[in-house]
Amino acid sequence: MSSINLWGYTEKNFQKEKYPLNETLFALGNGYIGTRGSFEEKSDFGGHDGTFINGFYDYYDLSYGEKYNGYPDRSHAMLNVTNGKRIDIYINNERFSLEKGTIKDYVREIDFKKGILTRRVTWISEKGDEILYESERLVSFYEKHLMISKIRITPLNFDGDIKVVSYLEGDVKNITKENDPRIGVEFQGDELKVLECKIDNNRGEIISRTKSSNLGLICLMANNIKCDDQYDSSYEQNDKSVSHVFNIKAEKNKVIDLEKYIVYKSYKNELNDNLYSEVIGIVEEAFTKKYDFYKQKQKEFIDDFWFNTDILIDGDDATQQGIRFNMFHLLQSVGRDSLTNISAKGLTGEGYEGHYFWDTEIYILPFFLYTNPNIAKQLVNYRYNLLDSARKRAKEMQYKKGALYPWRTINGEECSAYFPAGTAQYHINGDIAYTVCKYVEATNDEEFMVEKGAEILIETARLWLEIGHFNSKGEFHICCVTGPDEYTAIVNNNVYTNLMAANNLHNAYKAAMLLQKKYPAQYKKLVDKINIEESEIDNFEVAANEMYVPYDEHRKLYPQDDSFFDKPKWDFIDSEDKHPLLMHYHPLNIYRAQVCKQADLILAEFLLGGYFDREQKMRDYDYYEKITTHDSSLSTCIFSIMANELGLYDKAYDYFGDSVRTDIDNLHNNTSAGIHTANMAGAWMSIIYGFAGMRVEDGILRFSPHLPNQWNSYRFRVSFRGRIIEVCVTKDNTEFKILHGEPIMIYNEEKSIKVV
Ligand code: BGC
Repeated sequence: MSSINLWGYTEKNFQKEKYPLNETLFALGNGYIGTRGSFEEKSDFGGHDGTFINGFYDYYDLSYGEKYNGYPDRSHAMLNVTNGKRIDIYINNERFSLEKGTIKDYVREIDFKKGILTRRVTWISEKGDEILYESERLVSFYEKHLMISKIRITPLNFDGDIKVVSYLEGDVKNITKENDPRIGVEFQGDELKVLECKIDNNRGEIISRTKSSNLGLICLMANNIKCDDQYDSSYEQNDKSVSHVFNIKAEKNKVIDLEKYIVYKSYKNELNDNLYSEVIGIVEEAFTKKYDFYKQKQKEFIDDFWFNTDILIDGDDATQQGIRFNMFHLLQSVGRDSLTNISAKGLTGEGYEGHYFWDTEIYILPFFLYTNPNIAKQLVNYRYNLLDSARKRAKEMQYKKGALYPWRTINGEECSAYFPAGTAQYHINGDIAYTVCKYVEATNDEEFMVEKGAEILIETARLWLEIGHFNSKGEFHICCVTGPDEYTAIVNNNVYTNLMAANNLHNAYKAAMLLQKKYPAQYKKLVDKINIEESEIDNFEVAANEMYVPYDEHRKLYPQDDSFFDKPKWDFIDSEDKHPLLMHYHPLNIYRAQVCKQADLILAEFLLGGYFDREQKMRDYDYYEKITTHDSSLSTCIFSIMANELGLYDKAYDYFGDSVRTDIDNLHNNTSAGIHTANMAGAWMSIIYGFAGMRVEDGILRFSPHLPNQWNSYRFRVSFRGRIIEVCVTKDNTEFKILHGEPIMIYNEEKSIKVV
């Protein structure tokens, strides 16, 4: 029996030096609230405690040495909010803390099936008092505003005084700038101001307001103590924090239980009476229903999720644990209200300021689309809701028409202050357009296409006509953009960008045709709303057909962009111990050489596979693999998928191995700042698109399964057009079964089969 926890992640002995990392790995969330896995009791092990509300941010001014037109004036970042987790315990006046005393037993576990975090410690104080401390924490999927902590203290060798202090702390700050450009914000520390702070009638309350984004947050707590010992309770408060204090005359072996209900609700503008009563209602209901009710609901929600989502891998426990860890964290991180999204670090840390990137569309959305399409729908709706901001951004960038989606954002405004590897990544428009079509293809949700998708496609397509041009030969060129590879910036005709733009333009044309023919009234409405001219739609198709894609006939290779092969190759020997390169070199030195941070052309060959033949893909893979550092965690999964497609199975498994346990094994050495959500979903893609070879082409589901040598078998489910299809790959064959919905025709390799 392996010792790996297949349905959870466990820390068996307390590892002080891993405390900041474990704050991330043990983080809980429900897509609205996210909270790091810090201990309840105050401790100083170098961590960064934090609780976040998806979509709750404040602005800060961007300052530039030289500011040019179109540079964003301000950015915004996800705020660390009121801390509701803290509970301090004093045993005969000595504070319970693992910093001192003796730890006799310790185990901490996050359970992917129950959706809860537990900790059990037997601890002896410096004076010799021994207690058993047990805690459970959940962030509720059933009631998204609620988090509950439950603790139990058992005095094991003494009768005496136990004091429990349960806090709401409003004096919280974000991490400010460190040496790593990916972590830290230019905040002053006063972005979340406490307006009101009080405690009475067993209810603590902190109302705060952001300094400049005009967002409010109310946080409430109620504590429910249960013990047979005598105790009294009192309240304490200062300007920014409140606490409920329990003094207990504890008796040996008698348990003391405390349930703490913490409610968060963010709002725009002012807090009105209705909203206030609603929030009070949530905490009162929790107080009545109690922890076990929410624990049961949590399990029901998560059971449903796993039914659609789980991947069963026989023969490789480390991978089994890794992939479940990833899928569980993706669920915890994703906003499901069409107003919020999923950030690069989820709700587990402050890296990348809580921003949403193209990571959503190209990496994360496929995972939800083929497992939980209702969540995918909310993610595409989010982009629709941002369309006005994207139109505004296009204007700020001096374009007459169209929409330009922000490279990084929470609320729709561009937050990227570094244009070479940020704003210049116009491919975000193509990525969103690509995903809109994939969403409609996988769900048959034509209504979405008619009501929203076509508008996104046309507005994004317009932007390519704004920034691209037809040259004297009639070819359509796109200059001065940055592709996905952030080690090559501001180039002409990046292959990935041009092909995604062509796809965007073509699909905008197709959507316009669909509406014209099948939904003329809605088309007319759209024409009036965004002033579509007939010639414009035709131009989309012309630009798509004439899109220039550079090719090196001599080498028989695609250059990543026009000038890529003119550059010298990077000196990998010299930089051996200097990874990631971005932390060691001036960007220009990197941009000048043939070196890639991540999959770029190889990603195009995966997403738009039909454009390239197999031999071409093989040659390009061989070339680009040698010059790619994978300094971005978005890279290895794509190399794994393409290695599978090309039959390079050992490579496919190695790259997959790097991706599937990136966070759990801290392979990039920065998981303490938060998980890598795109990579987590990338690991899912490596199994489904990679090993199982799934592709959806012209609305048809295809598989080309391979069983890695390291596994005995694997099984997964995909949702497609109202069905749930189970796929089981063993050494001898592959079985397909419909678990829900009508039979469907699919392809296994080149063979068409009816799945029932
Ligand atoms: C990658 C980007 C990615 C961002 C957020 C960067 O390191 O190069 O492609 O969008 O991280 O995950």
